[in-house]
Amino acid sequence: MPKIIFEREKCIGCGSCAALCPKYWEMAEDGKSNLKGSKNNEKTSNEELEIEELGCNQDAVDSCPVQIIHINK
Ligand code: SF4
Repeated sequence: MPKIIFEREKCIGCGSCAALCPKYWEMAEDGKSNLKGSKNNEKTSNEELEIEELGCNQDAVDSCPVQIIHINK
């Protein structure tokens, strides 16, 4: 299954991911986005989520201005 890896600490809160892919992304009260249902990897501090289908996540990857959303296939 593909895994989404999100370097949340580097998020600048532009809102693109949540606008283009609201099924998986939402803006949080701290101004950064959340990857819904993700878990924190304690070794890397990244947020990670395994998914069956990429769906709109490729749009989130492509639209992120600081390129902190990654997909491991
Ligand atoms: S597109 Fe990137 S910088 Fe913008 S809110 Fe989403 S993760 Fe953060």
